[in-house]
Amino acid sequence: MAASDLINLSGMLDDAKYFALVRQHRWPAGVRCPVCASGAVIRDGHDHTQLYRQRYRCKTCSGRFDDLTGTVLARHHQPLRVWVLCLYFMGLNLSSRQIALELGLDGSDVQAMTEQLRRGLVAKAPTVELKGEVEIDEVYVVAGHKGQPAAVAKRGGLDGAASWQARRAAARWRRTSHPSSV
Ligand SMILES: [Zn+2]
Repeated sequence: MAASDLINLSGMLDDAKYFALVRQHRWPAGVRCPVCASGAVIRDGHDHTQLYRQRYRCKTCSGRFDDLTGTVLARHHQPLRVWVLCLYFMGLNLSSRQIALELGLDGSDVQAMTEQLRRGLVAKAPTVELKGEVEIDEVYVVAGHKGQPAAVAKRGGLDGAASWQARRAAARWRRTSHPSSV
């Protein structure tokens, strides 16, 4: 990226783009309810003071949330513009030091911001505490099949893949604690 691009960047990004970027990082596979993790979510107007801040309603748990609910962006005093530029630079794989230079901020401030963003926004799955025996072998097999399940079946066996899927489904159910489904 040329230096002139960076100089013009904050001018290019308006509020609509800020929120689009936040959504893109927070929900790369579509909006999900932060409470119950359901994807059955409908749009529910916009914030009254920030017109591009989309509000949502969850059809599963009736919870209401918006683009920033539950993220560091919702409760931090630093301007949204600074956070979103930080997010944007992280997407370009700039180091914390480079981001600090571009934003004119202290390196340790940016380090703290990027850590918070990774934890609170970019993280896609809740952390799972690993205890006792941990199996990862079949995860590698299935994750690596890249559209060639036949090759995986040959290596891992159909039964292995099936039981892995069953365990994954059970683990997901435990994590998301659905109120009604089994
Ligand atoms: Zn929900």
